Amino acid sequence: MTHVYLDYNASAPLHPDAWAVMEPILKMQGGAHNASAVHYYGRTGRKIVEDARRHVAQLVGGDVNQVIFNSGATEGNNTVLRHFADIYADEVILVSSTEHPSVLEGLEARRRIRHVPVDGNGRVRLDSLEEMLSGAEKVSLLSCMAVNNESGVIQDIAALSALAHRHGALFHCDATQAAGRISVDMKASSIDFLTLSSHKIGGSQGVGALVLGLCGQTPKLLFGGGQEKSTRAGTENVAGIAGFGAAAKAALVGLEDYQKLAVLRDRLEVELTSISPEIVIHGKDAPRVVNTCFFSLAGANAQSMLMALDLEGIAVSNGSACSSGSVKPSVTLKAMGQSAEIASSALRVSIGWATKEGDIDAFLYAWTKIYSRIKVG
Ligand code: PMP
Repeated sequence: MTHVYLDYNASAPLHPDAWAVMEPILKMQGGAHNASAVHYYGRTGRKIVEDARRHVAQLVGGDVNQVIFNSGATEGNNTVLRHFADIYADEVILVSSTEHPSVLEGLEARRRIRHVPVDGNGRVRLDSLEEMLSGAEKVSLLSCMAVNNESGVIQDIAALSALAHRHGALFHCDATQAAGRISVDMKASSIDFLTLSSHKIGGSQGVGALVLGLCGQTPKLLFGGGQEKSTRAGTENVAGIAGFGAAAKAALVGLEDYQKLAVLRDRLEVELTSISPEIVIHGKDAPRVVNTCFFSLAGANAQSMLMALDLEGIAVSNGSACSSGSVKPSVTLKAMGQSAEIASSALRVSIGWATKEGDIDAFLYAWTKIYSRIKVG
């Protein structure tokens, strides 16, 4: 059976440019690149890491000296949220109610978190935010993702950061699903902390970055080593970082081309609606990234649809498949005010650099079969 991969928001396949730089490093021919070592192999590793740092900084309009490599966006989000919960123990942290669990459940930060409501499209309600920022509780940090992992809906990050700053709070942006899909400019949007994950842009899993803005604070989570200028202890994942850098470079060069994916996604949505007119496409009336289609078929069960598609060789996701692989009702849809029925019947199709017209055909073919079975059943 041929398998069709339409789950880029979970993990994008490794980009060839990333593999090209990672392969020789992973083979460790002759010696291993520990970037802290003073010998030849160490110095070579250091150069690889610093080159990658430049590419990652460029992708998000950040300062090269402010990029801290880590294990991914979960770590980045935990690092920032925990820092604020620890340092500003008497203040609260505002997070949009559609954040990734690594923000919503950020360790001890949890007690101090207040959720900012979103509208029916999943965009943060600026009126509610303003009210919360001017309320009795002092706010240390506002955290909001640039692009939602389930729906692909884009937030107005510059407006959110301006509002936070006006009320004396700092601004954290989880840009995991935004980098390489829309232009991200930390300086123009006045972002104080930005988190990234390599495997969403074509690098490997297990590597990411926390990029600092100019507020002067350096949140730390791991201690016990001088790596990353003593901001993140632990031997650098040189191969992973190299791949991340190459993927970041390719993503920036390809940003304009990436927008052409809209043709495939829009065709998918038109045909999906014509096959199954009662589906609801989420976030359709808001700005969205071009690679994501998030829809519900009320009354159907997301887990059963996922399994049926998998049997047809099609890999998609429900928006919030948790790490154990089980399917939960979508957190994002619940926050958007959708019913439990809609939140339990959502599927996410997400495409990327290797997706072809034929992959969309294959999905539509499988969906037609599955949908007709659901209708008969
Ligand atoms: N934030 C968002 C918006 C994500 O989509 C993800 C990955 N699903 C993460 C954070 C966590 O990234 P990672 O698993 O690479 O740590």
